[in-house]
Amino acid sequence: MAGSAAHWSWAQAPVRHDPFGLGVASGEPRPDSVVLWTRLLPPTDLQALPGDTPPAWAGALAVRWELADDANFRRIVQRGTAPALLELGHSVHVEVQGLEPGRWYHYRFLLGDAVSPPARTRTAPAPHELPARLRVVHASCQRWEHGHYAAWRHAAAEQPDLVLFLGDYIYEYATPRDTTGLARTHGLPLARTLTDFRDRYALHKSDLQLQAAHACAPWTVTWDDHEVQNDYAGGEGQGSPADFLLLRAAAWQAFYENMPLRASTLAGAGNFHRMALYRRQAWGRLARLHLLDTRQWRDRQACRSAGSAGARPMAAAGCAELSDPGRSLLGREQEGWLHAGLAADAADEGVRWSVLAQQTLLSPRHSASGRQSTDSWDGYPAARGRLLAALAQTPPRNTVVLGGDIHQNYVCNVMAPEGSAGAERILASEFCGTSISSRSSVPQERLDALRARNPHVLLARSQERGYCVSDITPGRWQATLRAVRDPLDASSDAFTLARFVVEDGRPGPQAD
Ligand code: FE
Ligand code: CA
Repeated sequence: MAGSAAHWSWAQAPVRHDPFGLGVASGEPRPDSVVLWTRLLPPTDLQALPGDTPPAWAGALAVRWELADDANFRRIVQRGTAPALLELGHSVHVEVQGLEPGRWYHYRFLLGDAVSPPARTRTAPAPHELPARLRVVHASCQRWEHGHYAAWRHAAAEQPDLVLFLGDYIYEYATPRDTTGLARTHGLPLARTLTDFRDRYALHKSDLQLQAAHACAPWTVTWDDHEVQNDYAGGEGQGSPADFLLLRAAAWQAFYENMPLRASTLAGAGNFHRMALYRRQAWGRLARLHLLDTRQWRDRQACRSAGSAGARPMAAAGCAELSDPGRSLLGREQEGWLHAGLAADAADEGVRWSVLAQQTLLSPRHSASGRQSTDSWDGYPAARGRLLAALAQTPPRNTVVLGGDIHQNYVCNVMAPEGSAGAERILASEFCGTSISSRSSVPQERLDALRARNPHVLLARSQERGYCVSDITPGRWQATLRAVRDPLDASSDAFTLARFVVEDGRPGPQAD
């Protein structure tokens, strides 16, 4: 496994230990601030060889960082030292302040005589500014075994201003016993402990194409289920509730350690039983991003029994709970926060594009059998109805919904709530992106049939892996769906699957 530096391979005694083998990242851009991230790789396996732990690695290491105007680090803008704590997996989170709005910087980390790869990051424009252009890549779902990350190499080559990662950065599973058709394998067990989850992130972050994508621009990240456990819902997962909550805390800690997040994400005094993950980000007056967390606060999937292995598709007729108006996907607090935020966008003529960056498909999928997913918005129809009603009552100037999770590209007209007055009205535009590598088991013929029954679905494709790149200007939003030719090939080329445009003031994607 070339390029892998995770701990099960450390025993092979690298010629020269590189503490920056997991790469660097940046994130959470504001007009005056950005987060710089790295996580140090210790020289030996601390878990297996505690007696050999070099004393320096048992406590806090002082890591230096530099932020510069230029790629050669001749004109240093700021520099400092940050701790890498054993307790936080030797991760480093630097919140650089006092930066200039709307510009690029270069950064790197140093430890002893080791220097990290250099990377680029940028700040958001000043709040009052209307920038001419913003390029955003959004992506999700990168199961290790299912594919190589050529998509990330192509995404980095797009030179985006911002990367939105919408969930399933890791998958908790062990490699399947039947490895037929897999791109690669790993030797890690089903993730349950903090060490397991740390190793899982180390595995993914050892991939050089993913590292390149982190190095090209700041990322704004959120999560879905597989950062913890398939189909978990708030405090409920598989097995006993107490065991699940311990597993979730370990998984959330590893998520924080491995992502370029602000310390304010640690809402629960660092005990990892609560994370402040839903938030807003502005790109001047051009775009306001509402980043949602549809995992932490949701009610259990309809008609799923407590502790069971996962959610199952259900028809409304066989599951009264599905239409229970009390159920929520965001939780009542986040719903209120979101509806207030959309109303504020609507009241502010200055906000050009309101963006819902969330995990999964918002638009309904009506199937011939009447059965529907209970894990996505289809499983929480009353909650979706409340969101659509909020959009219909106080519509922002333009609303675009971004998602992932389903490993399929969906482009949709987001319609006013079914059965409401004006149900034929288009409220927003939806671009649910396919996966970076995770497979879809849905044959394309099924999606073609589904599209015929769902006229609001403009495109539905299951067999491509890739990402979506959006070029956002004051006058229009152009979304390009990019796919890799062969997900099993690390050096695969990529092609444009489709392109859509949303014009300012005219909701609904138009084929371009
Ligand atoms: Fe996924
Ligand atoms: Ca998912």
